[in-house]
Parts: sequence; structure tokens; C-alpha cells
Amino acid sequence: MSVEIIDIREIRERRRLRRLRRLTRYVYTAVAVMLVVTLVLAGFRLFGKRGGAEVLPADLQAAIEQLDWVSIELLPVNEYSRPGTPVEKINAVVVHYVGNPGTTARQNRTYYERLAENRETKVSSNFLIGLEGEIIQCVPVNEVAYCSNHRNEDTISIECCHPDETGKFNEATYASLVKLTAWLCSAQGLNSGDVIRHYDVTGKECPKYFVDHEDAWESFRAAVQREIDALKAAEKDK
Ligand SMILES: [Zn+2]
Repeated sequence: MSVEIIDIREIRERRRLRRLRRLTRYVYTAVAVMLVVTLVLAGFRLFGKRGGAEVLPADLQAAIEQLDWVSIELLPVNEYSRPGTPVEKINAVVVHYVGNPGTTARQNRTYYERLAENRETKVSSNFLIGLEGEIIQCVPVNEVAYCSNHRNEDTISIECCHPDETGKFNEATYASLVKLTAWLCSAQGLNSGDVIRHYDVTGKECPKYFVDHEDAWESFRAAVQREIDALKAAEKDK
């Protein structure tokens, strides 16, 4: 066994070095933690942008009320066409046809409204598009409309008028349908793949023409996607 005689200055020096090493470790750890937190937050932001759907249905409704090409004519809250049930999240847009050839958007809205008194059935839609391309909103997008069965709680429904039994939309109705669908998708971070037919929910022959003509449905979706892309590009240029 040997006894070392250690200089008091050396002990102090070693302690100083130890403290310094500890401090350096703390600084490195803190920097690493900050870096990880920053990366995670940046990742979330990127992911959020790509995933979209960050807009709350109530905020989307407020934005719709600013559009001069949508006529807001909300139904009174009632059990048969506007139950007032809140929608928490919008995952899709569902397209329908009214199934009553030659009727106007206003006539269909009146039909929904009268259900509050005559209680014949429960039916409504968030939007109606008429034969002249006019767009009427009947139920806010942050509330359930009675249109798409079990998807009423997480979708927006659009009912379209049509001149005859084929259910084919005329040019004005079609143009408004593309415009409205694309605008809604774009505002919600959705794509044309999130646009569905009533048929895709329950197998019902609705909207008839787009069920009978799969190619017409696909070209409608493609037109919606082109419009979504154009809206995105315009947003970027701002
Ligand atoms: Zn339908």
C-alpha cells in the first residue's frame, strides 16, 4: 500500500474539472432536448398541414357565410329536418340528387321546412343546388342534416336538382356542384377521394346518373380535384 501525498491545489483542480465536465454534460443534454422538441413540433406542423382537416366545423360555417355565391337560408331547428345535433369533424362530402325531376332548390328547401309541421319523414341536406346553379344552404355544416344515413355525423351533404328522370345534372347545376364541393374540400384539407355518393354509403341509387355512369362520376371527381388544386395554387400565390 502506498500513500500518495496529494497537493491541495491538485485536489481543487480535479474538482474544478469534474464540475466543468458535469456542466458540459448538462448543456449538451439541454441542447439535445431542445433539438428533439423543435423537430417534433416541426413534424407535427408539417403533418398537420398535409393531413388538413384542422378547421373546426363551426369555423367552416363562419367562412361559408362570407361567400357571396351561397345563399344562407337555414331551416328552423326542428326534429324532422334540422335536429341541431353538432358535427365534431367533417371527413367527407356526400353528393345526392333530389329524385324529383324539374323541382327547384327553393321547392326542395320548402319541403324540408314543412316537415317540421307535417312530420311526414326526417330528411334534409346541408346544401341544395338548383337548376340555375343557385346554391342554398339549409343546415349549417357544424350540424347534422338528415341525408346520408350513418354518415350524417361526419359528412356534408349536397342535394342537386335535375331536369328529368335520368338524374343527369344540367350544366349550371354541375358547375356549381364542382365549385362548392372543391371549395368545401379545400377548406377542410380533403381531396376528391373524400367525395362520395350516397350510393357509396348505403347502396341507394343516388345520385342516379353518377351510379348509372361510373365514368361520369370519375370525371366529376377529376374536375373537383382540378379545382382543389387551382384553389391551392391561388392560396400559395397570395
Ligand atoms: Zn341521396
